[in-house]
Amino acid sequence: MKIQEADAKSLLVAQGLPVPPWAVAHTPAEARAAAERFLGGGAGKVVVKAQVLVGGRGKAGGVKLAGSPDEAERVAAEILALEIKGIPVRKVLVGPAADIVKEFYLAAVLDRASKRVIVMGSAEGGVEIEAVAAERPEAIVTIPAHPIAGFLPYKGRQMAFRLGLGAHLKEAVAIATGLVRTMTANDADLVEINPLAIVREIAEDGTVAERLQCLDAKITLDDSALERHPGLEALRDPDDEDPADRAAREAGLTFIKLDGTIGCMVNGAGLAMTTMDLVKRAGGEPANFLDIGGGARADKVAAAMRLILADPKVDAILVNIFGGITRGDEVARGLIEAREQQERDVPMVVRIVGTNAAEAAVLLREAQFHTAETLDDAAAQAVAASKGAVA
Ligand code: GDP
Ligand code: MN
Repeated sequence: MKIQEADAKSLLVAQGLPVPPWAVAHTPAEARAAAERFLGGGAGKVVVKAQVLVGGRGKAGGVKLAGSPDEAERVAAEILALEIKGIPVRKVLVGPAADIVKEFYLAAVLDRASKRVIVMGSAEGGVEIEAVAAERPEAIVTIPAHPIAGFLPYKGRQMAFRLGLGAHLKEAVAIATGLVRTMTANDADLVEINPLAIVREIAEDGTVAERLQCLDAKITLDDSALERHPGLEALRDPDDEDPADRAAREAGLTFIKLDGTIGCMVNGAGLAMTTMDLVKRAGGEPANFLDIGGGARADKVAAAMRLILADPKVDAILVNIFGGITRGDEVARGLIEAREQQERDVPMVVRIVGTNAAEAAVLLREAQFHTAETLDDAAAQAVAASKGAVA
């Protein structure tokens, strides 16, 4: 689960990392009010930033500076009217603009290859790190965290020196170790600061000081660990998920969309994999992996059917149920209910064996469903129906 910059910054602040203050605004008027506060508090300018779950907002015109409340209101209106990489901007972050001396990249990443958390840094921050990695891999410094001890201060010092942050050693070490702490505390896959910046600050007495600040934050949370962190679910953004994925999650279904034409509704992950294999062997292409899980009742089956039919490429459906905890007659009732609500007529082949298969067969026969005895037969019929639809 990806979370917005403002929420990611809250998680950094909770670990004591240096982040400039901010406010979130949903309208130009709210942005103006926030800008008035920051400008009145001594900021020379404010920064207004689109809150969308994609990178490269700066290049897309989603990050702008403003020197007055009027200007902040105007640039907020411009940014709120944008669509960045297909996502409409619904809110902006407003904060005091930093006077940037130099930008760095620093991130804690779950590295699946080495099975560790690694800290990655680069003195070439601000730009897209993928481009740096591709063109000048030597400009990226990687230091693994210890699986148990975490990212100890000596590793933070190594990182700081290799990035040329010797003059900000203490702060850099606190930030590097803090990123790994943020990662573990929230079960994140990625905690990325780009840019981590040396910023110039002028105190009231006119003295100039330079310090490190996290100006941008991107955090990806491990979906499978979310239930360990009840508070984090509230940070889910509606744009984070494709509507089909959300519907599946809410219905408690495991659903993965694929490129083929045959919708598959199956109970059990192993049986779903087998069903997909058999569809392929019969010459077809599955449109999805869908596991309705054990003990699914009629409403869940109906939800699964809606998901399958929402994919316009689906021109045939194969239902394969092995009743154990799941009762065949419940599934049959769900299918009948789903067909009554369905807006698009697609040929369907149903195979139900196991618990209450006989009751299911009666229901399906009465409702004039097309059934199959064996899985091979069911797959062959579904593929034939799909090919018939294409021809
Ligand atoms: P991204 O493009 O989505 O990664 O958004 P960022 O928050 O990283 O902003 C992009 C760029 O805008 C940064 O690399 C900075 O160069 C610039 N920027 C962001 N915040 C500030 C700020 O407070 N002051 C100044 N002067 N520039 C900023
Ligand atoms: Mn950035």
